[in-house]
Amino acid sequence: MKAAMLRSGSLEILDLPTPEPGFEEARVRMRSAGVCHSDLHIVRGDWAGVPDTMPVGHEGIGVVEALGPGAERYIDIGDRVILGLGGSGGGYWCGACEHCLSGEPRLCAQSRGIMGTFAEEFCVYARSLVRLPDDVGDEEAPLACGGLTAYGAVKKLFKHQVRPGTTIAIVGAAGGLGHYAIQIAKAFGYTVIGVDVGEEKLKFVESMGADFAVTPDDAPALVAEKTERGVSASLVFAARVVGFQLGLQLLGPGGLFVAVGIPPTSDGPITLQPFEFFVKSPTVIYSAVGNVQDMREVVDLAAAGKLKSHIGRVAKLSELPAVFDELEASRYVGRAVITDLGG
Ligand SMILES: [Zn+2]
Ligand SMILES: [Zn+2]
Repeated sequence: MKAAMLRSGSLEILDLPTPEPGFEEARVRMRSAGVCHSDLHIVRGDWAGVPDTMPVGHEGIGVVEALGPGAERYIDIGDRVILGLGGSGGGYWCGACEHCLSGEPRLCAQSRGIMGTFAEEFCVYARSLVRLPDDVGDEEAPLACGGLTAYGAVKKLFKHQVRPGTTIAIVGAAGGLGHYAIQIAKAFGYTVIGVDVGEEKLKFVESMGADFAVTPDDAPALVAEKTERGVSASLVFAARVVGFQLGLQLLGPGGLFVAVGIPPTSDGPITLQPFEFFVKSPTVIYSAVGNVQDMREVVDLAAAGKLKSHIGRVAKLSELPAVFDELEASRYVGRAVITDLGG
């Protein structure tokens, strides 16, 4: 079978033997695999501590074709499934530690990620698989990381009692995560101010359902006009620290700040005035990916027609190195999906 592998820092398409599913694992014949920005970081060696030799890809849709011992308790041969869980923590979790039991398996000491969906066949922990209804197409593979990450962030609004009907800001609203967050926040009943740069992106933000689309420069005035004392929550998907700073600025008293993007370290830290803390009493949290229950809820939203991926590029496996170059140069809008893993 064909698979993309990172070997000593270079991306190669190899012919590998068909993998055998281990204990509680299923082998999935992949029908599509999404290209996530974090794959690009891994392939380019941007993150210290991540190996330079490893399988790549962590978003996918496929059909279960073989089961290892014990996997039959979770899934059946022939099931069409979505897999990935954001890559981080989706490959295994113990199920019994304090983090697993509180719904944060990503923090489990035994957790493993999912890596290697750019392959014709892939073995994965069967408990992490979510069955897909027919009305969610193969091109929706990016829901597995991008969609789930946006969903996990918006769901934090409920956890922190930000009431539906209130106005929230989504900073970086036109991006690969932001465009999902707009749709999810609207489905949950929030009024959404989408913040991004440039006329074309603002049009796209409106087309995703945002009530208002605004540039970072105009955002403070719009928030002052549309809310009494600021937004009830800021969700920051921006990859620059200025976006984080803006998100804090737009926040009203008692508001929730949810950080999701990871700006380069060279951008420096966020500045917080302790006096502003006193005045606003904000809640500041980080949100990363989600768990298998969150993934089931994402699939339900997609099946109900309330959540859709914006796909800007479709390619076959042999084109993957070119797709990474294009992603790096921002040559397409939305997410890329590999739909022919043998091609
Ligand atoms: Zn990802
Ligand atoms: Zn655990």
